[in-house]
Amino acid sequence: MLVLAAKAEVLHPGEGVFRSERVALPEPSVVRLSYYVKVPYQARVALNRRAVFARDGHRCQYCGASAENIDHVIPKSRGGRHAWDNVVAACRPCNSRKRDRLLEESGMKLRRTPAIPRERAWVLVASGSVRPDWEQYLGAAASLSA
Ligand SMILES: [Zn+2]
Repeated sequence: MLVLAAKAEVLHPGEGVFRSERVALPEPSVVRLSYYVKVPYQARVALNRRAVFARDGHRCQYCGASAENIDHVIPKSRGGRHAWDNVVAACRPCNSRKRDRLLEESGMKLRRTPAIPRERAWVLVASGSVRPDWEQYLGAAASLSA
């Protein structure tokens, strides 16, 4: 366990207690890694529909309407990859308007360049929600609107 190995410190005690035969430790709600643990690139954030919607705030990245679809910026039929930097949340009208065209061909513009999500989306995806006692550790990005 990371805390016992002194590689992480407890920043915020949780509700439960970890017990072993000899020690009882407060169950941490938030831990800070004392050194950088290299996480394999692929394991960092799984690319799936829920994660993309979380990253994009459930908003169409073309028009800002409520998103229902996942759009490949460079269509798969045109060699686009299924990767964080090529998928965006999109509303149905924008998704069907763009079809299998490139941005230049469709004349459509992205509101921002898609990228691997930062902590907030990651925490949401990993846990399903952000607990109130986590927010102070997540910074401004954690103020939840979705
Ligand atoms: Zn749209």
